[in-house]
Amino acid sequence: MLLDPYKRKINYLRISITDRCNLRCCYCMPEDGISLIPHEEVLTYEEILRIVHVFATEGISKVRLTGGEPLVRKGIIDFISRLSKIDEIKDLSLTTNGILLKELAQDLKQAGLKRINISLDSLRKERFYQITRKDNFERVWAGIEEALRVAFSPIKINMVAIRGLNDDEIESFARLTLHLPLTVRFIEYMPSGNGEGWKESDILTTPHIQSRLENVGNLIPIPPGQWDGPAKRFQIDGAIGEIGLIGAVSSHFCGDCNRLRLTPDGKIRTCLFSDEEIDLKDLIRKGGSDHDLKERLLIALRTKPEKHFINTYQFKKCQRNMSAIGG
Ligand code: SAM
Repeated sequence: MLLDPYKRKINYLRISITDRCNLRCCYCMPEDGISLIPHEEVLTYEEILRIVHVFATEGISKVRLTGGEPLVRKGIIDFISRLSKIDEIKDLSLTTNGILLKELAQDLKQAGLKRINISLDSLRKERFYQITRKDNFERVWAGIEEALRVAFSPIKINMVAIRGLNDDEIESFARLTLHLPLTVRFIEYMPSGNGEGWKESDILTTPHIQSRLENVGNLIPIPPGQWDGPAKRFQIDGAIGEIGLIGAVSSHFCGDCNRLRLTPDGKIRTCLFSDEEIDLKDLIRKGGSDHDLKERLLIALRTKPEKHFINTYQFKKCQRNMSAIGG
């Protein structure tokens, strides 16, 4: 079992397999993109698989693939099929913007992916374009329909709620759960990325969102499941799907944090909001052994901060964009 100095059990690795993305969400990236990690600096699938194998023998049992947009990376299906065969990995999931999901959902399912998170910040075509700068709402919706058809379970829809941008859609998103087996999760807007400036006043806090949801129906709390993260779970009375509230900023759930992140260029980050990085790529490419990799993992654990400092004077926005860390 992997324990950090604060006695937190670390069993979750989020892997950003690429910093490339086919959207330009206004709160995440500038319109003309950000400078990209050169291809030769990006970990190969073989290198990632080796890291996962080694970490899995130490206690990592949960892996999420993210990005950038993970589905734009060539060879993803074969990679997932190899990952899904690692016995110690009991939970394998993927976060996507859904643009390529209609084409890939069936193959992802066959490759062994069980569950999927789809990011969607608006149900309105024009607003989707305004937020993402791409006219792709229908493609994403078709991707969600395909995910339902091939029966991923659960299918989570992640909506970042931002005041003045999409806050008038909270109830519409919640209503999706009345008739569809979707888990709709509302995520507080976090101070990261190279987008159009973050202001504390732009955050819609989870208590505020919860009170808005009461307009849709009676909220019944659901106890956390085995693989659940920090979301507070609810079901609207009579609904098929679920609601999740993720208070990334307002509720400090750092005390329960069980995660490490691996960047596309092979650095471990122990907190989304800390720029401390431990290099694995360098070690691997210089012939480091599996034992050396385990040593680096233990160093990472020792440096995991107790908590983030958002909303305090100590907070510094991190240097890497969310797309190069893995949101
Ligand atoms: N491309 C994939 C996707 O769209 O899900 C994976 C990467 S994306 C960076 C992961 C998630 O991070 C998305 O749901 C996105 O909305 C979220 N995200 C990006 N910047 C954020 C911020 N400042 N606050 C909260 N969530 C953010």
